[in-house]
Amino acid sequence: MECFTIRMLEESARGACPKCGDPAAGPNGLALFADDDDEPICRACGKKMAPSMVALLDLARTAERVGKSYRHLLTPPMELLLDLASAAENYSRSAPKLRAT
Ligand SMILES: [Zn+2]
Repeated sequence: MECFTIRMLEESARGACPKCGDPAAGPNGLALFADDDDEPICRACGKKMAPSMVALLDLARTAERVGKSYRHLLTPPMELLLDLASAAENYSRSAPKLRAT
């Protein structure tokens, strides 16, 4: 079973996705990596191979965007709160279920 991690990219991605070879151009910031590769994998491959990690990445990016853009406001705009709630719901639906011991 392959393992995936979310890492911070200091520079924009310019290489190719190591799984499918498609150009993986993207902004710097959080990205999904397979443990055995140094280049980030594309969203399409991530959704096939690690959908819960893509959902977690979406949640982290949404929270980062809301936090950076509206930290000076007491309450962010409703549209962004709904984006955050939607990303959290997507993650909770895709997250692996914990087994009771
Ligand atoms: Zn790919």
